[in-house]
Amino acid sequence: MNQSLPDMTSLREEIVNTAQKAYREGMMAATSGNLSCYDAASGRIAITPSGMDYTIMKPEDIVIIDLDGNVLSGHKPSSEWKMHAEIYRHLPQYRAIVHTHSPNATAYAVLRREIPCVLVEMLLFLGGSIEVADYAAQGSAAVGTHCLPILSRKPAALLANHGVVTAADSLAQAYTNAVYVEDSAKIVRLAMSTGCPIPAVIDEEGSKSI
Ligand SMILES: [Zn+2]
Repeated sequence: MNQSLPDMTSLREEIVNTAQKAYREGMMAATSGNLSCYDAASGRIAITPSGMDYTIMKPEDIVIIDLDGNVLSGHKPSSEWKMHAEIYRHLPQYRAIVHTHSPNATAYAVLRREIPCVLVEMLLFLGGSIEVADYAAQGSAAVGTHCLPILSRKPAALLANHGVVTAADSLAQAYTNAVYVEDSAKIVRLAMSTGCPIPAVIDEEGSKSI
């Protein structure tokens, strides 16, 4: 890597640790899903590589690219890099993105059905219900473009017939958001097997309650 580029060693370590944690916790199956961090000062994205087993991933395997996908260090970035770049390009409040195909939330994504806001964690961390972005072919920039109307208002979205994307100003928070999306989907599915979940209430003053 060019010496003028920022040292992204700590970001690479954080990405590997979070990716392996996500794999252990069942948020990623096989090599699906991807994570990234963005260094706005240099315009560099650190992102998981394409198709690599999470259990053997090392910090040096993390790929550094610019917003146009030019590889500055490493080999081949995740096939979903365009989605990450599109979000960072248009929503500067975000510095980290987690993308999963976590099963309960992805079940809603393939139904193209919003996950209703029924838990306080959804109000506090996810901005309420989890909406579905319009369909786009996997790997296209349109996956990111279609998320922008949702991610500009709240830090999580379902990707139609695909999975989940969450964003935050840190990777730890983006991952927490992804876990809450999956947990919410699981709880709503369980509740719907018995009855009709009651949505949270947001009153006219904007105060939120369950
Ligand atoms: Zn995907």
